[in-house]
Amino acid sequence: MKTLSDAACTERSLMLHGFIDGELDAAHSLEFEQHLAACPQCAAEVAKYRAMKRVIGKSDVRWRATDALRAQVLAAVEREASAGRAAYPAPWQAQPAPRRFDLYAFIRQWSFVPTLAALAAMLFLVVLPGQHQGTLEDELLASHIRSLQVDHLTDVATSDQHTVKPWFNGKIDFAPPVVDLASSGFPLVGGRVDYVGGRVVAALVYRRHGHIINVFIWPAPPGDATTAMRDGYNLANWSNDGLAFWAVTDASADDLAKFRAAFDK
Ligand SMILES: [Zn+2]
Repeated sequence: MKTLSDAACTERSLMLHGFIDGELDAAHSLEFEQHLAACPQCAAEVAKYRAMKRVIGKSDVRWRATDALRAQVLAAVEREASAGRAAYPAPWQAQPAPRRFDLYAFIRQWSFVPTLAALAAMLFLVVLPGQHQGTLEDELLASHIRSLQVDHLTDVATSDQHTVKPWFNGKIDFAPPVVDLASSGFPLVGGRVDYVGGRVVAALVYRRHGHIINVFIWPAPPGDATTAMRDGYNLANWSNDGLAFWAVTDASADDLAKFRAAFDK
């Protein structure tokens, strides 16, 4: 392997971001690729940025500032604020003697403010992404739609409840009630393990004529039964025996109510 001078590497590393973002022309792209093949440092950099892009590109990525970080930022803000107050009494505080207006003193007096702003912005940067998280209903709806689109409706495809129920053993830490509702007009299609609301859930799949009903199940304390409509989909939520049930479907609200009644029987 040939050794590259640091200068050549620095020069080429300037192309790194353009390369990762696909902004280089063919000649430079090729040149950079050849450099990558010979330069482990740049190759590692590219791998690092690509991994970072992948993570950031996921829509459900969010960070919550740790309590320690929050405390540190807030303490720093407080420190800056009190340092500013101590060094430069606020204009409304009693002054030792009348002074003429001093622009530089004024600027110095408030110079901590941009720092505060930066710190506050940092806190928001850290805290805000969490507020973009969808509601549970959004997640359930997304999961329902995904199950229809990506050919991942079921992990175990059978109308036999006695096959579906044991299939969940060892995959989840609770036993979802699996009932066949074919006689009520809701044949069981199968089941799968899904991931919703930050936890692994069981999903049972039923059919109503041409419509699919996903029933998401996970352990939860009892709560009020609710129904909702979102983007043309109907959702129903109820709880039973320490489990929460969320049914999502594009079947009618009326059909969903019938389904729930049959499921709960
Ligand atoms: Zn390099």
